[in-house]
Amino acid sequence: MYDYIIIGGGSAGCLLANRLSANPKNKVCLLEAGPSDNTHWIHNCNPINMLYLMNSKKYNWRNYAEGNAKTGKRKFYWPRGKTLGGSSAINAMIYTRGHRSDFDHWAALGNTGWDYDSILPYFKKSQKQHRKPDFFHSNEGEMDVIDPNFHFAPSYAFVKACQEAGIPKNSDINGEKYEGVDFFQINQTKEGKRCHSAASFLTPALSRKNLTVLTYAQVNKIIIENGEAKGVEYFDLKKGKTLKTITANKEVILSAGVINSPQILMLSGIGKASELAKHNIPLVKDLPGVGENLQDHPDVIIRCSDKSNSSLTTVPKPSMLKFFARFYRKSEHIVFTPTDAGGYIKSDASVAVPDLQLQFAPIRMFPHGTKPLTPSKAGFVLHVCHMRPKSRGNIKLKSNNPLDAPIINANYFDNEFELDALVKGVKIAREILSQPAFSTMLKEEEMPGKNVVSDKEIRQFILDRVESVYHTAGSCKMGVDDMAVVDPELKVYGIKNLRVVDSSIFPTITGSNIHAPTVMIAEKAADMILNQ
Ligand SMILES: Cc1cc2nc3c(=O)[nH]c(=O)nc-3n(C[C@H](O)[C@H](O)[C@H](O)COP(=O)(O)OP(=O)(O)OC[C@H]3O[C@@H](n4cnc5c(N)ncnc54)[C@H](O)[C@@H]3O)c2cc1C
Repeated sequence: MYDYIIIGGGSAGCLLANRLSANPKNKVCLLEAGPSDNTHWIHNCNPINMLYLMNSKKYNWRNYAEGNAKTGKRKFYWPRGKTLGGSSAINAMIYTRGHRSDFDHWAALGNTGWDYDSILPYFKKSQKQHRKPDFFHSNEGEMDVIDPNFHFAPSYAFVKACQEAGIPKNSDINGEKYEGVDFFQINQTKEGKRCHSAASFLTPALSRKNLTVLTYAQVNKIIIENGEAKGVEYFDLKKGKTLKTITANKEVILSAGVINSPQILMLSGIGKASELAKHNIPLVKDLPGVGENLQDHPDVIIRCSDKSNSSLTTVPKPSMLKFFARFYRKSEHIVFTPTDAGGYIKSDASVAVPDLQLQFAPIRMFPHGTKPLTPSKAGFVLHVCHMRPKSRGNIKLKSNNPLDAPIINANYFDNEFELDALVKGVKIAREILSQPAFSTMLKEEEMPGKNVVSDKEIRQFILDRVESVYHTAGSCKMGVDDMAVVDPELKVYGIKNLRVVDSSIFPTITGSNIHAPTVMIAEKAADMILNQ
């Protein structure tokens, strides 16, 4: 018997495991469906490892989302981490928090205590900022936030070109000012090791006798008796899918992420009654919001070839060998991520808060690195993505078999609000790429290419090429309305001793990459759980 059971060892779950087990009186069990993170693929951040993780069958759930009529029924690759650290073990490590108004909006929706001033201390609590600490940043936490020490020439050109195009330079988009562009800060140690949630929070707690971590333990349902969560049933995948049960006398906390948290709730009988009936799942609690409100930042890539041969994907040359060798040196550490520059811009001067994010990578790549290095072709990509989409997708069960992946409906551009803004964003991106800073570098815009000129053509290009930038959130939303799944204390409505704590609880997606806000949510949840 445990006090707390945490389902899923991702961005949120690893932090919870640390905080809840800090008191030796609390007996905590963390269950993770994937393997341990003890591998160089995760810890060593060289770009080949990152590419491997992106498509790995071992460390990645490799989900696919369905398309809708607007996007030509195309399927979308939605990778998610399947290991200790979860998606933070396979992500690009960019550290961003979002705009003050994102959180003030959560509070305005009825989520008392989630306004920016209230949550800022929770961002700071876990943060180990390598710059000088200030009002917005702390160096006393466990999660390293650092400036990379290596950039390829096109990334410098991008930052300069933004200034030439009139976009302000902003070296701290997580501080006082949100708008502007510069190099990103990232989650790595000064030795250049990935600082995912497992490395930051779980590994330092592993020696605690009151913390049990089970890997290859895939939860199939939460055991609920008389409206109270009592424990979980899971497959021990190490032992040929043997079914096991463990119990908790305080709380079960669901942190299986935006796709699997709603799936596990539905498999446990918590969800929309008619949906559960379709799969012969006995109803425990009719909560129609489970799996709804799914959000993502829709993203398009402008891809260019590089005549200076100075990008990461390049004609083989000796400096590249030196670059890769640095990832294995014991001294002169390299702190690097391929998508190393970007920030926030407005699609239109009339927009109150910047609504688009730019992310630049000195790599001639296709989305998701599916055709990655294209030898002998140097190039770079500029991502444009919309930060506050109005379209909503959903997650539905495919069957009542817990080993079947659920059906994900991405539903991009169901509302054309974000499509209109992205058309403007592509034009701004082209303006940036046409600045003098790129004159010795940019050979040709390969995608969308010179035949895509009018708004109508750009619009079609976006519909044909939109992809996920992996910031999926909101499928078990926090709120006080009929579609809310958890209340502002993250407790599941109508069920005792059960909370959801992960990126699925975002009522609305933040204007940021979402690992840092997810860690913040877990930090605040840990406080609420321990202080209740
Ligand atoms: C390729 C990629 C790049 C990204 N880049 C960035 C970036 O640069 N910066 C940024 O801020 N964000 C980035 N993100 C997004 C960010 O990493 C995620 O949104 C965040 O990690 C989600 O945290 P979470 O705790 O909600 O879920 P996760 O971290 O995904 O954790 C969920 C965990 O639950 C486990 N699990 C699922 N089902 C079960 C089950 N049935 N039983 C037991 N365990 C289960 C999973 O295996 C996983 O370990 C990226 C994401 C991806 C995929």
